[in-house]
Amino acid sequence: MKLPEKIRTNCPKCNAHTEHELRLSRKGKERTMSEGRRKYEEVKKGYGGSPRTPKKPVNKIGKRTVIILTCKTCKKKHQRLYSARTKKAVEIK
Ligand SMILES: [Zn+2]
Repeated sequence: MKLPEKIRTNCPKCNAHTEHELRLSRKGKERTMSEGRRKYEEVKKGYGGSPRTPKKPVNKIGKRTVIILTCKTCKKKHQRLYSARTKKAVEIK
């Protein structure tokens, strides 16, 4: 599925149809010094292995693609979900 770079859609803040810029959302980098990560590293130390044994992986068909819409007038960002769990790849040209 190909999407254009700009679309006119409703902005919840302006409460009107305005021009929006589209961008694919990507997962951010995990912080290595976050509290949860530090606790987990502490628990994993020494003998005993991992306290959280991984569950059996579930094979899901396709990915949920999230598009970030940025309003050009108020610069507010909101998300939209495209092709939830389908094999169709979303790209912005
Ligand atoms: Zn707006």
